[in-house]
Amino acid sequence: MTATTTVGVIRERRPEEHRVALVPEAVKRLRSAGMQVLVESGAGAGAWFGDDDYLMAGATVTSADELVERSDIVLCVGPPDGDGAIRLHSGQLLIGMLEPLQHPELVQQWADQGVTAVSLDLVPRTLSRAQPMDALTSQANVAGYKAVLLAAGAYGGYFPLLMTAAGTAKPASVLVIGTGVAGLQAIATARRLGAVVTAYDVRPETKTEVESLGARFLDLSAVESGSGSGGYARQLTSAERGAQQQQLGSQLARFDVVITTARVPGRRPPVLVTTQALDGMRAGSVVVDMAASDLGGNVEGSLPDKTVVLGNGVTVLGAGNLPSSVATAASNAYARNVAALMGVLVRDGVVTIDPADEIQAGVVVTRAGSIVNPSVAAAVGDAMIAGGVT
Ligand code: NAD
Repeated sequence: MTATTTVGVIRERRPEEHRVALVPEAVKRLRSAGMQVLVESGAGAGAWFGDDDYLMAGATVTSADELVERSDIVLCVGPPDGDGAIRLHSGQLLIGMLEPLQHPELVQQWADQGVTAVSLDLVPRTLSRAQPMDALTSQANVAGYKAVLLAAGAYGGYFPLLMTAAGTAKPASVLVIGTGVAGLQAIATARRLGAVVTAYDVRPETKTEVESLGARFLDLSAVESGSGSGGYARQLTSAERGAQQQQLGSQLARFDVVITTARVPGRRPPVLVTTQALDGMRAGSVVVDMAASDLGGNVEGSLPDKTVVLGNGVTVLGAGNLPSSVATAASNAYARNVAALMGVLVRDGVVTIDPADEIQAGVVVTRAGSIVNPSVAAAVGDAMIAGGVT
């Protein structure tokens, strides 16, 4: 007889997180692969999936306690550490976007509990067979789309060129800074709304992608090439940063909307739009900072989930958890990423971790009481030293 794996889908613990790790359609697929699926009551409500939808898909709806007790695999979106945090048990597999580099204390806790923690944000993105599991990409796509809608909502003009009996309205001119996954989706969305779009990235190789979406690439001489490894940007020198801020600043006044998406892995986002550059923008302009974080963002002074109208009439929106605000689409895509990853972790109905597999070597953070991912182990070690724990 084949063993049956039981998968549990918890309700997200963090406030303002509306996504769910598995949608009913994905439940059906796991059921037909022979797995049992338990769903915590209310888990899908924020993404408009009711308990009845899960029941109809073949899941059992239950309490958090029973789910944690019975599940071999617990699925989540963000780390399950908010209000009513769950306590996992030894041998259990936890799969989610666990942000292990940001949460060394949680990683240590999972290791101590004997939990196998698997983080979707560590999927090796350049492996083509890992693409269906790339939740950073699926969620960045959602975020890029929503950033444009936020900008359009805050902007006092139209995005498209409109010719009406009451006259002609000029299209909005939009600048997207940072043309990774979110930036390219922002360009495409702004173009679909009819805006005239310009885009800039420190990696010159993105120019062809920008142009293929019908946008113009802004060439700046400040940095010849900011390409780093793995398709990411490198950290710029302070001279390059200063030149970039100055050259970008001199361009901003001609745009109605600016959307910034620039990040450098493992570091604070670079400041691209200074207070001085904001001062030079026109009243009614809108800036959306998708990199806004508690550590700072691309726009000086922006904060997550905070909208500020400056004295000169420029609106600065610090983006928060944008994928959560498009919870149904984001959950659908995320559930596919999770199901694809489970396809490599569960064989013949049994959880089988193979550290020799490149994907698993990337995503498995803790196992059998140890932190097995080297970069996470280093981050946890650094945090312990900084916190005085030896
Ligand atoms: P990200 O969120 O880390 O950064 C967003 C963008 O900001 C990047 O394009 C980066 O170059 C840019 N940026 C950083 N510093 C900047 C600065 N000072 N000025 C201007 N721009 C700056 O990136 P991401 O969207 O997660 O993806 C980064 C890359 O990884 C992209 O090239 C993407 O295509 C690639 N990727 C590849 C695969 C794959 O090969 N299958 C999968 C996913 C992503």
